[in-house]
Amino acid sequence: MTAKTSYRVIPIFIPQRACPFRCSYCNQFAIAGQGSVPTPEEARAIIDTHLATMSEDVEVRIAFFGGSFTGMSLEEQEMYLKVAQPYLQSGRVRDIQLSTRPDYIAPEVLQLLKRYGVTLIELGAQSLDDGVLAQVGRGHTVEQVRAASRMIVEAGFELGLQMMIGLPGDTKEKSMRTAETIVELGASCTRIYPTLVVKDTLLAKQYRQGEYEPLDLETAVEWCKDLYRYFTEQGVTILRMGLHPSEGLLSGADYLAGPFHVSFKELVLTALWRDRLSHMVADAHGGPVVVKVPAGEINYAVGYGSANKKMFPKVRFEVER
Ligand code: SF4
Repeated sequence: MTAKTSYRVIPIFIPQRACPFRCSYCNQFAIAGQGSVPTPEEARAIIDTHLATMSEDVEVRIAFFGGSFTGMSLEEQEMYLKVAQPYLQSGRVRDIQLSTRPDYIAPEVLQLLKRYGVTLIELGAQSLDDGVLAQVGRGHTVEQVRAASRMIVEAGFELGLQMMIGLPGDTKEKSMRTAETIVELGASCTRIYPTLVVKDTLLAKQYRQGEYEPLDLETAVEWCKDLYRYFTEQGVTILRMGLHPSEGLLSGADYLAGPFHVSFKELVLTALWRDRLSHMVADAHGGPVVVKVPAGEINYAVGYGSANKKMFPKVRFEVER
């Protein structure tokens, strides 16, 4: 068998499936850009469509995103997991990942997931501050995130803990403490989502009544810059920063306010490079600066919209060979 050369994910969105209620900021139907829950047949069609576009030498993982997968009945979970089995057995797909709520993890659930080839479980932790969790109506506590994380890691799964910034009651210090707890709980990966005000949510009502003010884009980029630096130092992979730009967010049909940008991650990495470059420029005392940049980083070094290049005209960027 030839070694696989890269890695791809087939996303299957199950919006707000089995959520006990809606968190104040959430409208998964708008965020996922998909209004209905796929049937197992539709899930199979999604997998086939993606596989048809993927070469044989990529590693493939099927991912059940959105909603609370393990909040469904064991039978319903099994129904979806079974769809993936022929692909796992043939070796075309390597494994399965899913996202769920921390209060929907139990030993019998983990046994089922293990049996069907799930390797990564991502929990929506959102904040590891009980005050913030209560304000947004998450319906679970920090202790429940800790307990679920322990169970997942002890059962031999890879753990992902997703976080949000700028929720009601959040501060930069609280978001940094959330990141520290994510590391402490043994997560290998995370996703960082700046809070947006999406229409048809309780948060939208609070925003309209002046009870909630989202972060502005610049502040969200600043917070994420420090979080990115920290997670990277700690060896935690950041799978995503910023929401996927669904049609509703792009057109504004679902979006009301908050730090939304189609290239949010690029803005954060541009800001990180800006810090690095300003130190180099200061150290050069007005002289020219030549910066060797790994090929994958060149767009961020030059900056989104060439922002860093314009800010530091004396810097010459060279791609590292
Ligand atoms: S648990 Fe997740 S998907 Fe469900 S309502 Fe809350 S944020 Fe939305």
